[in-house]
Amino acid sequence: MKIVLNPTGSDRAINVATCCPHCGHNGTFLQVGLNDVYTFHRSNNTNYPQHYLGIRKCPNEKCQGHLFFIADSAKNILLTSPSETIPFDKENIPDKVLNAFEEAIKCHSNSCFIASAIMIRKTLEEICIERGATGSNLYKKLQDLGSKILIPKELLTGMNELRLLGNDAAHIEAQTFSEIGKEEIEVSLEFTKEILKAVYQYENLLQRLKNLKDKDDKTINGT
Ligand SMILES: [Zn+2]
Repeated sequence: MKIVLNPTGSDRAINVATCCPHCGHNGTFLQVGLNDVYTFHRSNNTNYPQHYLGIRKCPNEKCQGHLFFIADSAKNILLTSPSETIPFDKENIPDKVLNAFEEAIKCHSNSCFIASAIMIRKTLEEICIERGATGSNLYKKLQDLGSKILIPKELLTGMNELRLLGNDAAHIEAQTFSEIGKEEIEVSLEFTKEILKAVYQYENLLQRLKNLKDKDDKTINGT
């Protein structure tokens, strides 16, 4: 994103409330002693701001990470760097799957939605390979995967509604990718998170619950 810095003024007018890309804490970011820069155009001897640019720090005492932002004339945040990413639990996820999914999330946070769509499909393909799910296309592989894992049936049926995944042929067309927008990517990322939980994390949670029960049984039986 290019902002032309001519002419500029300085101000401290922007409230930057966001999720910290460093620690995940939600909050209003703090000023760091510097004024923000704004660009403006002049009409009838009055300055009308167009963009604001500035630096803030995370309000979480343990983090205090930096954030650069650009906001529009209505003070809406257009961009932050580092950018906000969708949080998810990485526990137990194999490297190949994790790398693909992290890239999908990075693409989304930088508004590269087509690239994110491709990486979401790659993530799901990697999960299917790792779990030995088969089928002639990704949709069928996910149906097969669904029969092997604990996941609500409604979620797999709902997959049909996603152009990114729904009942596709062996190869999704380039045209389909260009029709996919922010909303669909966000739903697809949430869907992928549920699949990741079902494949890699529920089992672990169940095992931990079972261990607690075994421990209780042993205490009761005095063994
Ligand atoms: Zn932080």
